[in-house]
Amino acid sequence: MSPSDHAGAALTIDLGAIARNYRTLRDQLGGTPCASVVKGNAYGLGLAEIAPVLARQGCDSFFVATLDEALELRRLLPSATIAVFNGAAAGSEAIFADHDLLPVLNDLGQIERWAAHSRSRNGEPFKAVVHLDTGMCRLGLPPCEASRLAAEPQRLDGLRLVLVMSHLACAEQPDNPMNAVQRTTFDALRALLPAAPASLANSSGIFLGRQYHYHLGRPGVALYGVNPTPDKPNPMAEVVRLHSKIIQLRDVDRPQTVGYGASHRIAAHARIATVPVGYTDGYLRSLGDRAFAAIGDVRVPVVGRVSMDLITLDVTALAPDQSLPGTTVQLIGGACPIEELAALGGTIAYEILNRLGPRFQRRYIEDAA
Ligand SMILES: *Cc1c(COP(=O)(O)O)cnc(C)c1O
Repeated sequence: MSPSDHAGAALTIDLGAIARNYRTLRDQLGGTPCASVVKGNAYGLGLAEIAPVLARQGCDSFFVATLDEALELRRLLPSATIAVFNGAAAGSEAIFADHDLLPVLNDLGQIERWAAHSRSRNGEPFKAVVHLDTGMCRLGLPPCEASRLAAEPQRLDGLRLVLVMSHLACAEQPDNPMNAVQRTTFDALRALLPAAPASLANSSGIFLGRQYHYHLGRPGVALYGVNPTPDKPNPMAEVVRLHSKIIQLRDVDRPQTVGYGASHRIAAHARIATVPVGYTDGYLRSLGDRAFAAIGDVRVPVVGRVSMDLITLDVTALAPDQSLPGTTVQLIGGACPIEELAALGGTIAYEILNRLGPRFQRRYIEDAA
């Protein structure tokens, strides 16, 4: 059963806004090419719908996290460059090669296996993307492995280095000294390797200035409308809107509590609207008693805990004819910016996007304007 017109909520994904966001990022890069990060099903929003839109904007390089994501993308875009952040598990090199996919090489073992596979095919040297760890302590060659690679350059025999990359830990904080430290480390480590194009900037990194651009931008979240410059107005167009409808109203005229744990107490009188979206749908439980929704332009608080399939809103501030069963409620977007909700729920917009659930009716529109 797939979500239909009977779904409790509709998720609208503005493909025109994604296209505009790609162009905005490309402009910000001022001539440096711009790849697109579409891991996690394009941050939960739908790879099959979004990847072709980016390709039509001229994007020809894509990053995903896993081999399965890469194989799905390869079916959608037969000729794009596709790189896989998590690298190739031992034994999967042939699948990468057969589908013209690039594993991001994160350690010396991965480099060795990719080079060996390349030599075993007796053809053109395979392209290689090498990830240098400059401060995430996550993926990539740490400085000691980069030095070893420099000392033993034959490790790259059979490979053609097409990209050297690293990843910023604090890019959304322009004043964080970690950014410059990582850039300096990146320059020092890549100087050890054969000359190759470089990439450092994620969405926020693109807004740190030219020194962070190198030869390829690698934005993800900003494509999907999330503000890459949290201290400034959002330069990106809004992509995601989530709407639902009131399914029941309760006029309370004596002291009473709302929801599980009786966490919200009504002192004397209130009007409570129930909306059919819950944590199953990715409306985080941590938003209970904290977040707000909007009816028209009026913000109404989420009161009580978030249930599995329902939330409750205090709509007392609205005139009775503005909150009826069937009245539209906006949960994300417009008067409810996703960044603000994320902060109230103790998380980041990335997590809210990625968790938006399968029960919503998903509507892809070409342009809101
Ligand atoms: C996810 C990811 C990106 C994109 O980051 P955003 O902050 O979403 O722009 C870029 N590079 C790497 C290595 C990533 O894992």
